Amino acid sequence: MRPLEECAHGWGRTLAIAAVLMLPSSLPAQTVNAAAPRPIDVEPYPYPADLLDQAADLRDRALNDSNPFAVVASLSTEVGPRLAGSAGDRAAVAWALSYLQDLKLDRIAAQGVQVPRWERGATQIRILTPSPQTLAAVAFGGSIGTAESGLEAPVLRVPDLETLRSLSSDRVAGHVVFIDKRIERSPDAADYSAAVAGRIHGPSVAASLGAVGLVLRSLGTDSNRLAHTGKVIYQDGVPRIPAAALSAPDADMLARQLDGENAVILQLRLTARRLGSARSANVIGEIQGRTRPEEIVLLGAHLDAWDLGTGALDNGTGVAVVIETARLIASMPERPARTVRIVLFADEEMGLSGARAYAARSAEGGETHMVGMEADGGSGRIWRLDGVVPEPAAPLLAGIAPLLEPLEIPLGMVRTSGGGADLAFLQKLGMPEITPRQDLSFYLDYHHSANDTLDKVDPEALRQVVAAYAAITWMVANGEPEFGRLPDTDATSADEPGTGAD
Ligand SMILES: [Zn+2]
Repeated sequence: MRPLEECAHGWGRTLAIAAVLMLPSSLPAQTVNAAAPRPIDVEPYPYPADLLDQAADLRDRALNDSNPFAVVASLSTEVGPRLAGSAGDRAAVAWALSYLQDLKLDRIAAQGVQVPRWERGATQIRILTPSPQTLAAVAFGGSIGTAESGLEAPVLRVPDLETLRSLSSDRVAGHVVFIDKRIERSPDAADYSAAVAGRIHGPSVAASLGAVGLVLRSLGTDSNRLAHTGKVIYQDGVPRIPAAALSAPDADMLARQLDGENAVILQLRLTARRLGSARSANVIGEIQGRTRPEEIVLLGAHLDAWDLGTGALDNGTGVAVVIETARLIASMPERPARTVRIVLFADEEMGLSGARAYAARSAEGGETHMVGMEADGGSGRIWRLDGVVPEPAAPLLAGIAPLLEPLEIPLGMVRTSGGGADLAFLQKLGMPEITPRQDLSFYLDYHHSANDTLDKVDPEALRQVVAAYAAITWMVANGEPEFGRLPDTDATSADEPGTGAD
């Protein structure tokens, strides 16, 4: 095991550019926004037959010989919870550095990053009147705590964030706001995308209207008595109020009492607290390109995970996908033309500080990322291939399509924005992104909850994901044409849904 330290081999050092990179939105894994998507309906680029044969071989080896489940098992068992800045986070970095040693890579490095620290503490939420009940709840990541004595206030239920925004402070002041928005399961987790702003921005919107606390029906599709966490972002200049998720059956309980005649008084006691910052690292592994080493094909996955579960689905699976893809590519008879780099990003969940630092240092170092792919969607099979790529690159995706037919992955859409959260900063700098869409139908049963454990991972489906990532990576790392650059995407505001992740 190597200590957690900077051991970069030429990856730069500074955070200077980080300040100019704006925070992208933080949304569910692999969701993409709907800005002008167009079906990929173009003449495929005619890749050479021998290149397609190599990629098909790689795909089939992934299906038959890869073992991404073992990677998830190792990470979730030997490390488990690994929230940014925690002891688990440091153990995860050491685990990753150690794991990559066996992969026949050309370079391995830990790129040091400052990450926020936050401690969950205890979350106690009770209905005091009319019918006393204790509710299963968890604090949202980044939430402040209450005074030791807690707070007591009447509850104001709203169906969603938009409704809350429309209310006057007369209605809201002095209340605990309850955002009671159900989400339904679907392959693209569209409801989560639509509702997550309520979690992220709800506390500040409520506080700006005088609310003293916020509770939210968990953004999950299960009916377990477990709540789903996720980060909140407090707006500058607005009072900070404590915020927590209720499990679905407890949100039902609260709703039933609110349906009665009497006012409902809720008591919140949270000992959550922010603790400044800590040292973590992006873990980087690289297979150097044979003929075009300066052109990087990037495979990203966040290494951190919430503290409640063991980070098996989110994001042990994504870590496994990029590690197994790298292992397969490193075992090919020769190196690909371009460099294939995997980055296991620090701190996706609490603030994207790893992704921001990586993009800043990369820009400062003048690196060229030709195209990127992120893995952060659990273990559901890929059901469609999309891309956030310039229009002229659509034929390149179409040229890869025959390789994906045996995996039952059709071509989907070219989009102008969306993709993985950790790659959003690079995308803003012009990097195109290939976005395989994993089936998220069951992901939100477990996502960000104590139920995110290894038994929820589907080993067979995960092999299909690795097979697709490996085949696509081999093609784009060796194909002659480049993907070009995306136009400046400053139009994507920080509030806009569109980047992937949590
Ligand atoms: Zn994730």
